[in-house]
Amino acid sequence: MAARLRSNSSDRQRLIAAVRERFGESVAVTDPHDIAPWLNDWRDRYHGRSDAILAPKATDEVAAIVTMAGQLGVPLVPQGGNTGMVGGATPPEDGSALILSLRRMNRLRSISADNNLAVAEAGMILANLHDEAGKVGRRFPLTLGARGSCTIGGLISTNAGGTQVLRFGTMRSLVAGIEAVLPDGTIHSGLSGLKKDNRGYSLDQLLIGAEGTLGIVTAAALKLVPAATARAVAWVGVASPQAALKLLRSLDTGTRQIEGFELVPADSLALVLKHVPGTRSPLESDSRWHVLIEATAHEGDESPDKVLDALLGQALASGLAADAVVAANEAQAEAFWKIRDSISEAERAEGPTLAHDISVAVETMPDFMVDAAAQVERAFPGAIASGFGHLGDGNVHFHVRAGTRTAPDWYDAEGPAISRLVHDLVTAAGGSISAEHGIGQMKRDEFKRLAPPGRIAALRHIKQALDPAGIMNPGKLIA
Ligand SMILES: Cc1cc2nc3c(=O)[nH]c(=O)nc-3n(C[C@H](O)[C@H](O)[C@H](O)COP(=O)(O)OP(=O)(O)OC[C@H]3O[C@@H](n4cnc5c(N)ncnc54)[C@H](O)[C@@H]3O)c2cc1C
Repeated sequence: MAARLRSNSSDRQRLIAAVRERFGESVAVTDPHDIAPWLNDWRDRYHGRSDAILAPKATDEVAAIVTMAGQLGVPLVPQGGNTGMVGGATPPEDGSALILSLRRMNRLRSISADNNLAVAEAGMILANLHDEAGKVGRRFPLTLGARGSCTIGGLISTNAGGTQVLRFGTMRSLVAGIEAVLPDGTIHSGLSGLKKDNRGYSLDQLLIGAEGTLGIVTAAALKLVPAATARAVAWVGVASPQAALKLLRSLDTGTRQIEGFELVPADSLALVLKHVPGTRSPLESDSRWHVLIEATAHEGDESPDKVLDALLGQALASGLAADAVVAANEAQAEAFWKIRDSISEAERAEGPTLAHDISVAVETMPDFMVDAAAQVERAFPGAIASGFGHLGDGNVHFHVRAGTRTAPDWYDAEGPAISRLVHDLVTAAGGSISAEHGIGQMKRDEFKRLAPPGRIAALRHIKQALDPAGIMNPGKLIA
């Protein structure tokens, strides 16, 4: 593959001037104060520089900007809500790229309850799509902790998962079509919502999970499902991840109404209670592990409260669950979810955390979590290793904290060796070092080290074919 494209300052200034001339001053933001918040990633691990944020308002503006950037050899870093976890939306440190923000392209173009489809622009915030779908008696069945900031374009480009994958799949299963600007400036229009279309390779599917390296997503047709008529949320104490998975399987045999099943270790719960104001433990008893369960109902379904009451009653009687409570009302249900959604924030408040978003086969995950934590803690005595999250998808966020290893440079000094160990263990177990966050710049070298060479070669050929000049998000995913 060609060497990474690095622009010079005068070409960047020419691009900024050309954008302003065609689309107005406001489309190129150059005030350093306005740019500053968008130069660092959400976890504050990656820090970049950029002369400008280009913020177009329409697809043809994006196409013109990409065309001009290609002519001038100026790389672009697509950015949505900047909530990504792998530094994918952070520009390079050398300042050689401009940020292309989609946040102003935030319109809902259409929504149809009859077609169960919404066409949203890339910059639309997920929570706003949830609201719009609710107004027509539908819902978009993907949610995650960053829903108030993350955008449709970012969710597509990272093939995001979240807490409802168990029932509805990742973003890949929820996208019916994509409109995007390809690296040569042409517009790919895939919004027709065709159920069947076998005209060769799917550009839509190629763009999902591409992390902005193959083009700019400008809009998407998204699949909706009927709005739930009720939900019930429970918090359950269990003895181990193994018990948690058995509990999920026992719920599966009793009902089809479970759509959220999130594992929370006692350690993560304690951090949330310590750092997030207004949170309290749902159970009075102590358990080493906890599970948050959400069941929903649609027209004709049984009440989800009754379903959970009955099934959790059986789990308590059989000893599968140690303790359980079903939220008495919507406020309590929200309070339970707040605990789950605040784990990353609480860890951040506690200190540096090495985060590993990993997956192995679902049935393997409980043993893997316990074994891998023991191996990490044996190799780095005093460190605390644990996993939380989407157990039913075989995906947990396996995090390692310093514990009693208090060297001030712990994260930088030991982090790479710890992450290598975790990734080696995942690979040996046949798993993935990125389940839902992507590769970005954080995992690029590890991906190259551990992926089968044929896979890396194929990705490089695709990148080279679509973006020969390398103007799309340089240094991410594959360098
Ligand atoms: C508290 C919290 C909880 C989270 N929980 C989850 C979770 O449960 N599951 C999960 O999967 N993720 C989760 N995330 C990660 C994050 O929210 C998702 O990765 C989200 O998809 C990023 O969207 P964004 O708009 O912020 O994208 P950004 O961070 O701006 O960008 C992410 C990547 O997509 C590219 N990109 C952005 N927009 C476009 C576009 N229009 N066209 C082409 N490329 C583009 C960027 O270049 C970058 O590579 C969480 C994040 C936070 C902060």
